[in-house]
Amino acid sequence: MVKCVSILGSTGSIGRQSLDVISHLEGIRVAALTAGSGVERMAEQCRRFHPRLAVMATQEAAQALAWELNDPSISIAWGEEGLIQAATLEEVDCVITAVVGMVGLKPTLAAIKAKKRIGLANKETLVCAGELVMAQAEQCGAEIIPVDSEHSAIFQCLMGCGDRREVKRILLTCSGGPFFGMEEEQLKQVTKADALRHPNWKMGPKITVDCATLMNKGLEVIEAMRLYRLPLEQVEVLIHRQSIVHSLVEFTDGAVMAQLGTPDMRLPIQLALTYPQRTVCPVEPLDLTQCSALTFCHPDMEKFPCLALARECAKLGGTACPAMNGANEEAVALFLADKIGFYDIYRLVRQAVEQVPFIQDPTLEQILEADRLARQAVRNAESPNR
Ligand code: NDP
Ligand code: MG
Repeated sequence: MVKCVSILGSTGSIGRQSLDVISHLEGIRVAALTAGSGVERMAEQCRRFHPRLAVMATQEAAQALAWELNDPSISIAWGEEGLIQAATLEEVDCVITAVVGMVGLKPTLAAIKAKKRIGLANKETLVCAGELVMAQAEQCGAEIIPVDSEHSAIFQCLMGCGDRREVKRILLTCSGGPFFGMEEEQLKQVTKADALRHPNWKMGPKITVDCATLMNKGLEVIEAMRLYRLPLEQVEVLIHRQSIVHSLVEFTDGAVMAQLGTPDMRLPIQLALTYPQRTVCPVEPLDLTQCSALTFCHPDMEKFPCLALARECAKLGGTACPAMNGANEEAVALFLADKIGFYDIYRLVRQAVEQVPFIQDPTLEQILEADRLARQAVRNAESPNR
């Protein structure tokens, strides 16, 4: 079990659940916490967990936190530099990456270089620069333990599998989100409030919208390809409304392994901290006699074109993935600000992907540039006169 952690994005959904898990486990110290703008929540967490470093996204938020805390034993930093500092503190052996979006990339790379174990929730990092991240982790001998429930399930199904050639395919399960089964006409009318009502999970707003468009599953397909070094053809998606089977692995002999559990992110979070051990977790036990029937079907990629687009980008590789991710982050932010409709997300992301010049084997700088250009393309398309 790890002994000392930094949590990047501690005030968010995964961050708060990580602290809950830590408070139930004995012997894990929190060295650093980071947040975006949630000063009050961060101050509360600092008073409870006494990190030696607290980081906010901006200088203003950092100043507000310093004023609120008034505690000289806690250093306060801000911005990307602060995140990198939190990710690389000497005494830390595990960094939970629970920030949302591309902002997690550089701190994750820094943590890998510093040989920290990564409890990886921030999937955007692997979508944008998965090849660089995985190569660097291998080179530095840093462990990456997925926190995303599907990828944690696959990780668990693969425990004891010494040869990846024995894997025939991965079956990523997907709840289908709040709009499963709706007709296209209905989908054109859905609102932000509808999209934020996920049937099985309570998560941050960006990923909740991604679940409604199924872009989340598209990002997860790419995440799985990078984590497990599999081609697109070996990563399939199955709609499973009950979110009890968190994903499956089919082996070459036809055996299928699955991981089941109550839908609660604290289980995969805890495993990232205790692996290779398991210990009691404060999660409702799964009672299969109380579950409704477990059902599976194929996703409808015509009604949910973001999943098809993500598969296209996964096939292309290169800068197509960071361009898609950056455009999606920007489009979801516009949707959450009530500036565009639900289907505009797909339209704007596709347009942006088509506009950004394609590079097959991009450097980190080229990845960051593809991200920037894609965001700009979405902003320009949304308000061409600005
Ligand atoms: P939330 O929106 O709940 O939390 C995001 C965290 O990042 C908050 O602490 C937020 O701070 C911080 N943050 C936001 N913007 C910035 C910024 N510019 N700079 C620094 N910090 C920032 O997201 P989730 O916890 O839902 O998701 C986090 C990551 O985990 C995502 O990549 C998501 O895809 C992934 N994930 C989440 C799951 C879930 O169940 N929630 C499941 C699987 C994966 P503040 O709020 O203080 O501004
Ligand atoms: Mg997931």
